[in-house]
Amino acid sequence: MRSSFANDQSERTVQKKVLITGGAGFLGSHLCDRLIEVGHDILCVDNFFTGSKENVRHLIGHPRFELLRHDVTFPLYVEVDEIYNLACPASPKHYQYDPVQTTKTSVHGAINLLGLAKRTQAKILQASTSEVYGDPEIHPQSETYWGKVNPVGIRSCYDEGKRCAETLFFDYWRQHEVKIKVSRIFNTYGPRMHPNDGRVVSNFIVQALLGNDITIYGDGNQSRSFCFVDDLLDALVRTMETSDSFTGPINLGNPEETTVLKLAETIIQITQSRSRLVYRPKPDDDPRQRKPDISRARSVLGWAPKVSLEEGLSRTIDYFRKRLVI
Ligand code: NAD
Ligand code: UDP
Ligand code: UDP
Repeated sequence: MRSSFANDQSERTVQKKVLITGGAGFLGSHLCDRLIEVGHDILCVDNFFTGSKENVRHLIGHPRFELLRHDVTFPLYVEVDEIYNLACPASPKHYQYDPVQTTKTSVHGAINLLGLAKRTQAKILQASTSEVYGDPEIHPQSETYWGKVNPVGIRSCYDEGKRCAETLFFDYWRQHEVKIKVSRIFNTYGPRMHPNDGRVVSNFIVQALLGNDITIYGDGNQSRSFCFVDDLLDALVRTMETSDSFTGPINLGNPEETTVLKLAETIIQITQSRSRLVYRPKPDDDPRQRKPDISRARSVLGWAPKVSLEEGLSRTIDYFRKRLVI
């Protein structure tokens, strides 16, 4: 159903009532900003496990923004046109803190939100992840690759939870004709990451700015491909706007690959930090390499990332400088 709320903003955009789960997190809060800006009506749902009111404080009181404290592992009855399902801790440190809850969030959360989409006939987009490819033997990873995932390791709660969520999305599509979109997001960074989030970009920037040791896990030769948040959001919104026949999965990320060691050196160079590199044990099952094949995103969405790693890091460093008051 279409929302009946008055459209005070845009004549160009058809106003929709959009549910964003995990909306007070890093990506979710930026998505709230984007969709408010183009005139939609936003229901932001979050249990504030890793997200915070601080991320959406500037939106509180906006006539088209509503914030609801709710855990997606419980049913939710609301009327919406579109759902972005982002609820799930994304940093290994946080998703491993309560792994049972992590699996429940992905699996029970998907069931509840798919049930909601089925009842309301809303379109629903799943924030899946490159972790569905596990420690990949194929490089770069394209959507046709089924992955190499340990089902019983410390990352499994996240990887297998997200894989099961993908299965549920495709079964609700086949069985109930729910309009689904599955996007596989690769490492994304930018302003509003929490300083204690534990992911590599925020860790290294905070360590560099404070002059603390920079903690390299393993030998630093493992690779990742980092996408700046603005680029990722362009792709996410475009994915939601594809025709109903497009389900994905679709890789979203920046194919500019770098090693963890090179990332540390780049951050040291931009911040002019005197921090030293220190080496710590590599966590179990930490993928050795990761880089998206984004051919599908290029052809279906007409999208490719625009922000280079250096530029994105500089913008993120500026944010942390202000946040840490340095
Ligand atoms: P984040 O941890 O900042 O955001 C996750 C949000 O979900 C937080 O606000 C958290 O409080 C909320 N949440 C967690 N469990 C919940 C529950 N049971 N009920 C309601 N809310 C809950 O992480 P992010 O980077 O913004 O990631 C957002 C989504 O994108 C996640 O689903 C993540 O798996 C996915 N993703 C992110 C990346 C990335 O690099 N940022 C990569 C791949 C996938
Ligand atoms: N659900 C929800 N909101 C809704 C509709 C359903 O949270 O608006 C939940 C409900 O808890 C249900 C689940 O989604 O268990 C799956 O819904 P579905 O209709 O697929 O299954 P059923 O209700 O038959 O179990
Ligand atoms: N990493 C690191 N030092 C840190 C945090 C992470 O060397 O302080 C490494 C981590 O072992 C992994 C890479 O950086 O190889 C990316 O880690 P992150 O937790 O950001 O994301 P993910 O492993 O989920 O891609």
